Amino acid sequence: MIKIDGSMGEGGGQVLRTSLALSMVTGQPFVMSSIRAGRKKPGLLRQHLTAVKAAAEVSCAHVSGVSLGSDAIEFTPGPVNAGSYHFSIGSAGSTTLVLQTVLPALIRANGPSEVVIEGGTHNPFAPTAHFLTTCFLPVLAKMGPKVDVELVRHGFFPAGGGQIRVTIEPVERLEPISLIERGEITDRRAIAIVAGLPGAIADRELETVAKKLKWTQEDLRHELLGDGLGPGNVLSIELGSEQLTEVITGFGEKGVSSEQVARRAAKRANEYISSGVPVGMHLADQLLIPLALAGEGTFLTGQLTRHTKTNISVIEKFMSCAFDVQDAAPGRHLISLRA
Ligand code: ATP
Repeated sequence: MIKIDGSMGEGGGQVLRTSLALSMVTGQPFVMSSIRAGRKKPGLLRQHLTAVKAAAEVSCAHVSGVSLGSDAIEFTPGPVNAGSYHFSIGSAGSTTLVLQTVLPALIRANGPSEVVIEGGTHNPFAPTAHFLTTCFLPVLAKMGPKVDVELVRHGFFPAGGGQIRVTIEPVERLEPISLIERGEITDRRAIAIVAGLPGAIADRELETVAKKLKWTQEDLRHELLGDGLGPGNVLSIELGSEQLTEVITGFGEKGVSSEQVARRAAKRANEYISSGVPVGMHLADQLLIPLALAGEGTFLTGQLTRHTKTNISVIEKFMSCAFDVQDAAPGRHLISLRA
């Protein structure tokens, strides 16, 4: 039985999700204590509870400790079954993070799957549905698995009520990937979405992005969603290069001006542009499991986040692999896995 201290490294939900994902994939049971001990509200919140239940359903697992607030679980997976699944978080918890839990097993399962997840689709501190469809999944597709995420309905924090429908065509083996060169940014777009809030918020954000990034009107888009889906506001900046498209996200917050939201996102976009690395800070931690499943591969990223460092440590507890992390240049890191 693998023992995981949930407070390790970053000490958040990712330690749990990666453990569940790799337990399902490798068939190894694990016991976890101090779940999310590094967070203000530790233990299983609705999103994490749904992730545990989803993992258990997909892999016919025996689990103990499955309750709201629980700080320890024991998880013994059975066989992974492809199929049709429906998971409802019951709050604005992130649908994409529940998907992150079951996806590694389903992309190598015994047939295609369809997974419907209800909850939040555009949450701060989680990949948005847009990030998945534009950044993460196209990179995953280069490794073989074809995964489509349809955004059926937007769901913003705190109201939730969103839905994604995911179709998954698995592969027997993932292909290694090499993302070392980025090259020029050849495609760019800023999209401001507003639901149940004045459209002027989107206009102000886009104006600020245009000023800060020296972009023109044709690079900007705004979408006004119905009041019933709000309140919510999200700004996505897409930066496409030869091998992938990075998506940088800003969220409207009470007490923070639209200009401020846009300035922060534009600053991160400028940092990404000048860094020259292909793999952004969030894609970096999310690519580690696919890399481990492929058994080899390499990518160049910027500063290592705590999420990336922690995910490496958790993955190495479940799989007999050792990531090699090298300082490629100041602020640049090459992460590799060799067969
Ligand atoms: P908690 O940490 O409160 O337990 P959590 O379960 O929401 O929360 P984390 O452990 O913080 O999760 O993991 C968050 C995940 O979301 C990471 O994989 C991170 O890369 C991803 N993420 C966070 N912000 C973004 C963003 N703006 N764009 C894309 N991915 C993001």
